[in-house]
Amino acid sequence: MNYRKINGKIIFITGGVLSSLGKGIFSASLASIFKERKLKVNMMKFDPYLNVDPGTISPIEHGEVFVTRDGGETDLDIGHYERFINQNLTKNSSISSGKIYSNLIEDERKGKYLGKTVQIIPNVIDKIIELVLKNLNGYDLLVVEIGGTVGDIESIPYFETIRQLQFQRENVINIHIGFIPFLKINKEYKSKPFQHSVKQLHSLGVFPNFLVTRSEEKISSTIIDKISANCSVHKDYIFELENVDSVYQIPQKLVDEKIDQKIADILNLNLKYSPIKNYQLIDKLIKDQKIGEIKIVIVGKYHNLKDSYLSIIESLRIISIYQKISLKIELFDAKSLNVNDLKNFSGIIIAGGFGIEGTSGKISAIKYARENNIPLLGICFGMQLLILEFAKNIAKLNVYHEELNPNKNNFIIHLLKDQDLKKLGGTMRLGEYNCKLIDNTLAKRIYKKSMIKERHRHRYEFNNKYKKELEQKGLLFSGINPENNLVEIVEYKNNDFYIGVQFHPEFNTTLYKLDPLFESFINAAYQYEKKRKNN
Ligand code: GLN
Repeated sequence: MNYRKINGKIIFITGGVLSSLGKGIFSASLASIFKERKLKVNMMKFDPYLNVDPGTISPIEHGEVFVTRDGGETDLDIGHYERFINQNLTKNSSISSGKIYSNLIEDERKGKYLGKTVQIIPNVIDKIIELVLKNLNGYDLLVVEIGGTVGDIESIPYFETIRQLQFQRENVINIHIGFIPFLKINKEYKSKPFQHSVKQLHSLGVFPNFLVTRSEEKISSTIIDKISANCSVHKDYIFELENVDSVYQIPQKLVDEKIDQKIADILNLNLKYSPIKNYQLIDKLIKDQKIGEIKIVIVGKYHNLKDSYLSIIESLRIISIYQKISLKIELFDAKSLNVNDLKNFSGIIIAGGFGIEGTSGKISAIKYARENNIPLLGICFGMQLLILEFAKNIAKLNVYHEELNPNKNNFIIHLLKDQDLKKLGGTMRLGEYNCKLIDNTLAKRIYKKSMIKERHRHRYEFNNKYKKELEQKGLLFSGINPENNLVEIVEYKNNDFYIGVQFHPEFNTTLYKLDPLFESFINAAYQYEKKRKNN
C-alpha cells in the first residue's frame, strides 16, 4: 500500500441491510449542507457492476441514465447530487468497477505494468484511490458514495480502499446507513440486521464514525442505545432518518440533528453556523397551502420502475413546490395505453426511450393531446414521435422513423451522420450542445434568450428534407443547433402548449435553479386545469 497524504477531507458513505435506502439522497443532502456552510464540495459514486458505464443498461435495472454536461452517461444518484448541491458534476463523478478494470487492463496491454503481476491489491485499490484523490483535488471536501450493500462480493475493493485511507483519521471518515425493519406482528423495530451489517464492515477493517438508521417512523431511544452498544459508536453519533413528506426536507432535518457540527468536530472543519435560508424556505413552501392541483402523466415503456424517469419526476416535484401547486404524477405503460385514460390529466409527457415497443401507444397519446389541446411535452424520443405523428396525421406523409423501421425508406427521423450501430457504449450524441432559439416562437418566450446549451443523448435526428412540408402545416422549428443545422425544438402553433425537444431539459432543475421549459409546462398544465374547472 502506498501511503498518500490527503489534502482535504473525504466522507465515505456506505450502506447496509438492503439497497434503495436513499443513500444517494443522504449523501447529496450532507454535501449540500457543507456547501451551504461555504466549503468547496465535490461528490462521486462508485458502482460495483462490470458495465463500463450505465449507458448500456436498461433503465428498468438501475433507473435512468443521468447525463452530465460533459457527456458522461452516469448513475442516477449523480442527478440527486446535482439537484441538491446545485453544481454541475462530470463523468469522473460516476465510476463503475467495469471502468476501473477496463482502464487497468488497457494499461496492462500497453505494458505499463511490465514485469509485474496485476492484482486487486495493490493495483485495483491504487486505481480507486487515484480516482478519489483526483476528485478531491481543488476541493475542501469530497463525499464518496459506495453503491450496493456491505457484504456484496463485488464491492469488497471499495471497502478495502476505505480501510486503507481511514487511518488518516483527521481527514477521512465513514458514515454507514442501514435499514431498521418494523415487525408488524410484534409492533417493534428490529436492529439486528443493522448490527450485522456493521459487524460485516468491521470484519473488512472499516470502523464507521457515524451511523444513520433508516426507518419508516421514528425509532425508540432503547434501540439507538442497543445499536450504540453493539456497534461501538456513541449514541450522539447515530442519526435517525425516518420517512419524510419530501426528500427535500432531509438537509434541514440533518442540520436539526447537528450532523454538520459533529462531523466538523472530527474532521476539524471550520464552519459558520447560521440558519440556512434555502432549507427553511423549502420547508415552508412544502407545508404552505397550495393554489391548485395538477395531474401529469408520463407515457413510457419503462413504467415498472419509477426511477426510470427520476429526473423528470424530480423536476416536476421541485418546480411544483416553488409554484405551490399540488402535484400528482402517474406513469402509463405505452404498450397497453387506452387514450380515454388520459382525459383527466392536466399535462402529458412523452418520455425518451429506445426501440419500437410501445411506440404506437405513445403516438396515440400524442394525437390525443394534440386534438384536445392538452399541454404536451415530448422529450428526445418523445420529440421524434411528435414529429412522426404530425407528419402522418396532419401532413399525410408516408414517412418512417429509421430506428423503428430500418428496412423502409423515407426516413423523417434518421440516423445521425457519425453513428455506427455496431459500437454502442458511449457513442451517442452525448452532453451539451448549442440550441439557437428562433424569434416569435413559444420557445423564445420561454427561455427569453437567443442561445441555450442543453444536454443530449440520442442517435437519431430529424431529417431536414421534410422541414418545408411540415412548416406549411403549422409545425414550427423553434430551436436549431447552429453548428449542424439539427432540429432541437418543435412546436405546433395551433395548440396552447405543444413542444418537443431533442434534448433533456429534466437534467437542469436543481433545488436552486428551475428549468424554464418544465416551469412553463407546469404553468400550462395549471392554466389548463383552471380553464377546465371554469367550464
Ligand atoms: N431512441 C432515440 C434516439 O436514439 C431517442 C433517444 C432518447 O430518447 N434518449 O435518437
